Amino acid sequence: MKNYIATPTRTKAILNKYQFSFKKSLGQNFLVDVNILQNIIRHAGINKQTGALEIGPGIGALTEQLAIHADKVVAFEIDQRLLPILEDTLHDYSNVNLIHQDILKADIVEVINENFQNDQDVHVVANLPYYITTPILMKLVRDKLPVSSITVMIQKEVAERMAAKPNTKSYGSLTIALQYYTEAEVVMTVPKSVFMPQPNVDSAILKLVLRETPPVHVDDEGFFFDLVKASFAQRRKTLQNNLKSYFEDKYDKDMINDILEQSGIDGKRRGESLDIGEFAHLANTFLAAAKN
Ligand code: SAM
Repeated sequence: MKNYIATPTRTKAILNKYQFSFKKSLGQNFLVDVNILQNIIRHAGINKQTGALEIGPGIGALTEQLAIHADKVVAFEIDQRLLPILEDTLHDYSNVNLIHQDILKADIVEVINENFQNDQDVHVVANLPYYITTPILMKLVRDKLPVSSITVMIQKEVAERMAAKPNTKSYGSLTIALQYYTEAEVVMTVPKSVFMPQPNVDSAILKLVLRETPPVHVDDEGFFFDLVKASFAQRRKTLQNNLKSYFEDKYDKDMINDILEQSGIDGKRRGESLDIGEFAHLANTFLAAAKN
């Protein structure tokens, strides 16, 4: 078998050669299992026609597999110390473009337009730094990137939140946001043992396929997401109490009761019992009432 980067021996040799010390604050847990990487690539739908956009290449474990299986790879890495290492470990692959940048500050749409052909299928594939999983995913979906799918390794617990159903502990505003923009599926769970160093929790591979149109109609996306956030603010409170606290400067209590009644949604329910359709209906009812 080829001496891939994603093996414990090769990874240790690279770390030793460069005297590299992991930065916990950057979520550096490198993958040392080629089988897991190939699974990620297969689920992501990567092939020789497709482009791949990676976040956080580390020392290049996933990048190498992407370079082998995709047409072209573009990878964003924030840690300057990794750039010379990557130049070395990925020396044999001419189809990789490394960008030294914080993904949260990047204009990803522009990078995609500059690096891939117009009609090329592009997939985001990453073993995400766990400390910023949620902001990265929110950015990826809200920036409306011209990509076909997003397949990422994240903490198992967060993955469960993303594909959760109403009335479960994992269900929350993140679930709704991802449901709105994508179809989310947890494709497999992954043990801690495939990482170096090992994280404290198990992980999972989450696949998000971007929707052409949202599953529900909302009159104002910003307001819809505000209302969802408000409804989950204190999970033990009823929907009406959460809405009253959050919107106290905007709507008085009687008005909130009236709107809830108009919507046909019982204000004594908890936010976590509403599905995305009910949230959309409630948000649209609020806006219509505010106009009158
Ligand atoms: N892809 C490699 C692998 O699977 O072995 C490394 C994954 S490691 C979990 C996360 C990587 O993301 C690290 O290389 C870290 O330096 C990088 N990173 C952390 N924050 C970042 C950010 N804001 N923008 C870009 N890269 C970031």
